[in-house]
Amino acid sequence: MKLAMSALIVLIIGCSTFQGKTEHQKTSSKELKREVISIDETIRPGDVKFLKLPKMADAKLYCRGQEQRISEGEDHSTAVVMESYFTEFKPFTCEFKIKDELATVYNFTVMERRFNEETLRVSPRTIKLSQKDQDRAWQEQLVLNKIYASSHPSLFFKGPFVKPLNSKVTSIYGVRRIYNNEKKGQHLGTDFRAPIGEKVPATNRGKVVLARDLFYTGYTVILDHGMDIFTVYGHLSKTLVKEGDIVEKKDLIGLSGNTGRSSGPHLHWGVKVQGQYVDGMILVDESKKFFLP
Ligand SMILES: [Zn+2]
Repeated sequence: MKLAMSALIVLIIGCSTFQGKTEHQKTSSKELKREVISIDETIRPGDVKFLKLPKMADAKLYCRGQEQRISEGEDHSTAVVMESYFTEFKPFTCEFKIKDELATVYNFTVMERRFNEETLRVSPRTIKLSQKDQDRAWQEQLVLNKIYASSHPSLFFKGPFVKPLNSKVTSIYGVRRIYNNEKKGQHLGTDFRAPIGEKVPATNRGKVVLARDLFYTGYTVILDHGMDIFTVYGHLSKTLVKEGDIVEKKDLIGLSGNTGRSSGPHLHWGVKVQGQYVDGMILVDESKKFFLP
């Protein structure tokens, strides 16, 4: 019986092909299985990518088995995929389903990316924390966790992200760091050369979800751009926005400085996507390719 059914399905598909039916007619026909499209993609630690999906009712995307946010645009939908710096290099899939039926599968292979090492000197009190500073840093971490746990559900930004400054990049994303010859860490942001008082703009439209002094990043502004994309501006000498403000791309949000755990005046720009710090320069490139094809 099973064999007979399979033969019948093959026959129906065969007939529809023979009759020259289009893909659209095939998929709209109830008795036929949808043809699953398979797409091979690569991603590296700290990368972020945008997926263009057809705008359909009852459409869902699952990456690594987890349902993802989909933002509906005028003629298509957009989803965001990232890979953590702390990757285990396991391949994964993103499955796009329409009415619970698999339509497209993206097969991601995680490629290697090498990160250099750098040494730097910072204030010893930011390496060996006093009890008071430990308590402060802990309290601030709780505030940050809460901020990153909720985001505008759809794209709140407009078009590609831009670099915050056009000055020399003094430290790239991902370098392994040794502070004061004793503490190891990773630099999960991009540092731009900036004297104290340089104007710092928003890298895209967003909502100010934090504007305050933090132990590690000093005076800091965090913007929520929607879809779990946040940008962080650290070590500022002054914040010029308040929590709850909506800012447009290139609006002034603060002045650069040397506050918090910093080895000299500069702007630290961090990008957090789906709870992980990713490479902001990749976000700039990928969003440019995606929104300005
Ligand atoms: Zn930095």
